[in-house]
Amino acid sequence: MAYSDKTKQVFADEIVGIKDKGLYKDKRFICSQQGASIKVEFPEGAPQAEVLNFCANNYLGLSNHPDVIAAAHEGLDSRGYGMSSVRFICGTQDIHRTLQDMLSEYLGTEDCLLFPSCMDANAGVFEAVLGQEDVIIADRLIHASLVDGIRLCSAEYDTFKHMNMKHLEKKLQLHQDKRTRLVVTDGVFSMDGDLFPLDEAVALCEKYDAMILVDDSHASGFIGKTGRGVAEHFGVLGKIDIITTTLGKALGGASGGCVAGRKELVELCRQKARPYLFSNSLSPVITATSIKVIELVTKNTERRDKLEWNANYFREKITEAGLNIRSGDTPIVPVMLFNAKLANDMARDMYAEGIYVIGFFFPVVPNGQARIRVQLSAAHTKEHIDKCVAAFKKIGEKYGILGLDKKGIIDKYGL
Ligand SMILES: *Cc1c(COP(=O)(O)O)cnc(C)c1O
Repeated sequence: MAYSDKTKQVFADEIVGIKDKGLYKDKRFICSQQGASIKVEFPEGAPQAEVLNFCANNYLGLSNHPDVIAAAHEGLDSRGYGMSSVRFICGTQDIHRTLQDMLSEYLGTEDCLLFPSCMDANAGVFEAVLGQEDVIIADRLIHASLVDGIRLCSAEYDTFKHMNMKHLEKKLQLHQDKRTRLVVTDGVFSMDGDLFPLDEAVALCEKYDAMILVDDSHASGFIGKTGRGVAEHFGVLGKIDIITTTLGKALGGASGGCVAGRKELVELCRQKARPYLFSNSLSPVITATSIKVIELVTKNTERRDKLEWNANYFREKITEAGLNIRSGDTPIVPVMLFNAKLANDMARDMYAEGIYVIGFFFPVVPNGQARIRVQLSAAHTKEHIDKCVAAFKKIGEKYGILGLDKKGIIDKYGL
């Protein structure tokens, strides 16, 4: 009886605390394939509703693409269901090697190593390649999985202001005495849709003898002329020392991640990265299917181009409708509402209009920057987008925020 009433109360109180702060995450169930249109049970027990999905990372619409599903069936038939082993014992099939080679080619790196997820790639890479003599200099808004990976590593940790190259330069100067300097950033920051200025950062790294790691999870497959990521967008393909990315977003959306980069660094991950050594291999079915996905995205840029068109169209129409968006070049479009309750209420009303979007507020974004984050997909049609914009217009009207700028919304609703 170690789980006494007193112990139980400790946890129950914490859960109440989460609810009191308005941070409780409700259960939501998708009762269909993932796609532009989905069936959702929300709240739990409510009848299923058919809604248009504008909050998935399904950027290229590949999550339920027929060719992808067919490849999964084939992969399952030819290589079985599970590996029952970590990579280095008996968990590496020929298809793992093939996928690594293809990813490496696609990302413009020398080598690549698959992990069960990008979270695992980030958990393993820092400890495997850096030690006490080194320093990590990271953008202040990097993804939580990078923060966790950095915590597991003994290198000194320093930061620079978000996307501020002057500040990065200062920090690079400050740490010239270290053995290795590693600059760490997201390629696309998922909350704002910001593109990190990789061309400038690479130039600074060359000037100050530093390496750079980019987590391109919200870019691989669709940012850049042929979708190879932020490095392609800024013309520095082949100059990134380490790229970590996920197969769980645009690239099929199942799961899996990788560390791609300089040969020696990837080799060190193969020898030392703990999630590689101690967690099970990426399943054969996902590995085989991902090979098909890379074939699809390299064959032509149709889906990536459609996504770009959709994002531009949505940005244009939503602005015309009088909503306040953060400008940018990505399919991540934050509709800014500043007030957390307003973001939450509006998202709920959008759901009633058949549009599935989510309100984001502290601690996911800074206080006073609450928003509804809209994510476009190549699976959306023009009609889907029109319907989404019409719903925003109707709900925006209801809350009296159409045409209001930041100050106008804050004056009306507070922070
Ligand atoms: C989603 C995401 C991850 C985690 O990817 P998984 O493969 O789902 O673990 C890591 N980094 C960034 C920047 C992400 O957006």
